[in-house]
Amino acid sequence: MNAASFPHRDFILNGTAIPADAEEMLAEICEHFIDHAEVLRDGDHVTLSSEIGEAYISKVCEQLDIRLACPTSDMLSMTRAIIAEHLFMFAGDDPLTLEWADQPKPARLANLSEITVVAAENITPRMRRITVSCADAARFDTVDGLHVRLLMPPKGRAPIWPVTLADGRIGWPQGEDAISVRYYTIRSIDLERCEMAIDFVLHEDCGKEMPGAEFGLTAQPGDRAGLLGPGAGGMPAAKSLILAGDETALPAIGRMIELATPDMEVHAILEVADKAEEQAFACRAGKFTVEWLHRNGVEAGTAGLLEPAITARLDTLGADTAIWAACEKTEAQAIRARLKAHGLDRTRMSAITYWRRGYTD
Ligand SMILES: Cc1cc2nc3c(=O)[nH]c(=O)nc-3n(C[C@H](O)[C@H](O)[C@H](O)COP(=O)(O)OP(=O)(O)OC[C@H]3O[C@@H](n4cnc5c(N)ncnc54)[C@H](O)[C@@H]3O)c2cc1C
Repeated sequence: MNAASFPHRDFILNGTAIPADAEEMLAEICEHFIDHAEVLRDGDHVTLSSEIGEAYISKVCEQLDIRLACPTSDMLSMTRAIIAEHLFMFAGDDPLTLEWADQPKPARLANLSEITVVAAENITPRMRRITVSCADAARFDTVDGLHVRLLMPPKGRAPIWPVTLADGRIGWPQGEDAISVRYYTIRSIDLERCEMAIDFVLHEDCGKEMPGAEFGLTAQPGDRAGLLGPGAGGMPAAKSLILAGDETALPAIGRMIELATPDMEVHAILEVADKAEEQAFACRAGKFTVEWLHRNGVEAGTAGLLEPAITARLDTLGADTAIWAACEKTEAQAIRARLKAHGLDRTRMSAITYWRRGYTD
């Protein structure tokens, strides 16, 4: 496969990595990215495909030739940063040279927007909506990338933002200026007011060592933060959708439900703590149904309610229905295995890890 197979990928970038052991690095790439992208290996050639683009990596002698192909320049920057960060992580203490054809100069990240909190309110007992102002909110108004990385600077300090380094990695502020980073979803956008809403799950034991939930719990009007994105997945293109997830996926599912058009059919399967966590949605889809699953005291990420609820719909699944699911890692893996066993490939299904029990993001 080559970049020409993807005519919609207008943004292309070549790079070269010289690791200590090119074969070992290629094997690590395949092993690691299997959880995040479609990975195809053909001899010395590896293709990684995801919603934000493709990376073609070939072992040539003792180096890796890299070709990135993405639909937007923001996604190309993000893909480059992801590949660069991972290659250096795989290299560990071994030497690694990584160069890119455009020879980037250290600069502010192209896909970084500053936000200021304007309002905060609980929409259910354990879900808090933070409304932020953002001068370039229109950047986030896309169905192709619903998610962002939320950059949370230390409280009481002026934010120091990360920059792109010459090797494509992100140079993060250090020491007292270090910022916390977590994935979140843009729940809704008000382009007239240049405002966006982000819904935070106030999850178990929410405390200071959980910067995401802590930000949601304590954000005050005037607080500043940053958003990297949009990216990391969009709305499936099918006209018939089954959307399933726990509370962390509720913002993404809520946004997709509200983006659905009258020619669509949507069924949502939503696992929440209890009835008090149910939300109402404004849906224009021709047919919309929602199934709430309550954990009723069982710890989040352990109830195992989503996989059987999805499985129950497989026998009557329409040929044009796509399934999108996101939740805790073990549960996402069980869903992915079930959907694969049913013969669905990545064009018809995705089961994504949104958080991992016992691990920080
Ligand atoms: C693409 C994407 C989009 C996401 N969108 C949203 C969103 O819009 N809203 C949202 O609230 N979350 C969302 N998440 C999930 C969120 O990023 C994680 O829950 C993240 O771990 C929260 O960070 P934290 O700092 O609160 O906790 P961390 O520091 O990451 O973790 C601390 C502890 O809390 C536990 N923990 C984390 N999340 C949960 C949870 N939901 N329930 C119970 N225990 C938990 C961890 O297992 C760990 O033990 C999204 C994730 C992804 C990948």
